Amino acid sequence: MVERIHDVIQIGYGPVGQTLALALGRQGRDVVVVERWTARYPLPRAVCIDHELYRVLCALGMEADLPAICQRGPIYQWFNADWKTLLEIDWSVDSISGGPEINFVHQPTLEQALDRAVAGQPTVDVRLGWEAIAVSQDKELARVTVRNRATGEQTIVLARYVVGCDGANSLVRQAIGGGQEDHGFEADWLVIDVLLKPGVTIETLGIPAAGQYCNPLRPTTIVPAGVREGRVFRRWEFMRLPGERNEELESEARVWELLGPWAGPEQIELIRHKVYNFRSLIAERWRDGRLLIAGDAAHVMPPFMGQGMCSGMRDAWNLAWKLGLVLDGVAGDTLFDFYQPERRPHVSQLVEASIYLGKIICIPDPVKAAERDEAFLTGKVEPPPPFPQLADGLLMRGPDGLLSPGAGQLSPHVRVTRGDVGGRLDDVVGPGFVLVTLDGDALGRLDQPTRAMLDRLGLRVADMAELVDLDGRIVPFMAAHGWTAMVVRPDFYVYGGTHGDVVALVGALVADLAVNGLGNAAAAAAV
Ligand SMILES: Cc1cc2nc3c(=O)[nH]c(=O)nc-3n(C[C@H](O)[C@H](O)[C@H](O)COP(=O)(O)OP(=O)(O)OC[C@H]3O[C@@H](n4cnc5c(N)ncnc54)[C@H](O)[C@@H]3O)c2cc1C
Repeated sequence: MVERIHDVIQIGYGPVGQTLALALGRQGRDVVVVERWTARYPLPRAVCIDHELYRVLCALGMEADLPAICQRGPIYQWFNADWKTLLEIDWSVDSISGGPEINFVHQPTLEQALDRAVAGQPTVDVRLGWEAIAVSQDKELARVTVRNRATGEQTIVLARYVVGCDGANSLVRQAIGGGQEDHGFEADWLVIDVLLKPGVTIETLGIPAAGQYCNPLRPTTIVPAGVREGRVFRRWEFMRLPGERNEELESEARVWELLGPWAGPEQIELIRHKVYNFRSLIAERWRDGRLLIAGDAAHVMPPFMGQGMCSGMRDAWNLAWKLGLVLDGVAGDTLFDFYQPERRPHVSQLVEASIYLGKIICIPDPVKAAERDEAFLTGKVEPPPPFPQLADGLLMRGPDGLLSPGAGQLSPHVRVTRGDVGGRLDDVVGPGFVLVTLDGDALGRLDQPTRAMLDRLGLRVADMAELVDLDGRIVPFMAAHGWTAMVVRPDFYVYGGTHGDVVALVGALVADLAVNGLGNAAAAAAV
């Protein structure tokens, strides 16, 4: 049986597929999601989301759900075997997005919340128990052959685009071709999730709030793992040492033995345990025509930065607005040419940062561990690389082709009021491209054709002369760059900024987007 042509078929309904389905559903797109399992994966993998994704989830309508399932991140500390601090990353501080740098979550609880939100999208059809078995495309459309795992029934689903959110063994990645780049990290870790019993806290257990215990005898991770209905999850991870077998590590007796120095059955309830093989792989090609990949399908990384799921959700968020503009015919599908250049270098840097941290902790050799400790304790170690920003893609450039200073940064988020209305900036202003201006009359200087094109693009204006920035982050951010106006992309990254020349700024954007061939006219108008 062949059905109508949908806007998008998504393969896979993990957190990345859910995020994309929610974003596309909120745009009213006709989306089919196929997921091979009928039940959600019950066990936690990811335990944290960063401030950027917290902002994204709020913008996707989940602001009310998050406080109950998130815990503010603490200071993340790296200790040597003698509990001397090697490194500290403060996850509790207020971020550019508002709220802490990191929030801890219980992945299944987050996925349940996402699932409820997707269920509220009438144009998204989630088909559980259906497995994609073949993907193909031609100039007109893409085809996915799906099979019902219970009945064996097969059907072909048609769509303009297919997004593979289908995890590390992605079928869509294979259809796209190109292989994976291996960044060379590999280690096996036993991951154990527990629930604290009533009355038990990290203080009564005497454990760090979030720590890496870099003891060469047994490198160990101890972190929060989210909350559900008031119950607190915690995670321990133990590196597999040379000579140990996975089956041995996974036996319950061994799990309790390893947990022994930290906690016992009278304090914690064992939820699950599993040995994971941590790898660092990035797909060479993220798109071929109508086929795209996102999430673990495109990249896997060691979890030491807590960035695997976050990066995947960033892919989905990046793709959602591009799909919207292309499906509406506002931009040509060359807009997707920006996807990989924007996302892949960002992910590569996070993979490298995760490996940097992994190499600190995954040292089972006491001599090498002592050398590492000495280097850290005497300040001879380079600090971790800064968190990446966009370095390529749809970003404003100068005449020399280089990125304009400040382009590609994440923009600040604040709470605002406008007259009697108050709330999150993203909600008050609305989704899409936003021209943030300190000069209320900025658009008055644009000619009518350019304004018409910006209307078509759905550009909104955040006039800071009219909005009250309750957190006081936007004007200082712009002042630091000498800007009186900036364009923020739908995914909250800064396209570019200007001191006074709004016509050139929006003209450059329209030209870059080549909006229905009108971009050139806008660019000409901007000169
Ligand atoms: C121990 C551990 C700790 C981690 N900690 C963190 C952390 O703190 N923070 C963080 O951001 N990330 C973390 N991660 C990574 C994070 O869990 C993953 O990156 C994330 O779950 C990937 O989401 P996804 O939706 O891309 O893939 P998945 O969750 O793997 O979902 C893919 C889905 O696609 C379905 N599927 C696959 N093929 C098909 C097909 N042919 N047809 C139909 N359906 C199909 C699968 O059944 C699956 O449901 C951690 C991972 C591990 C293992």
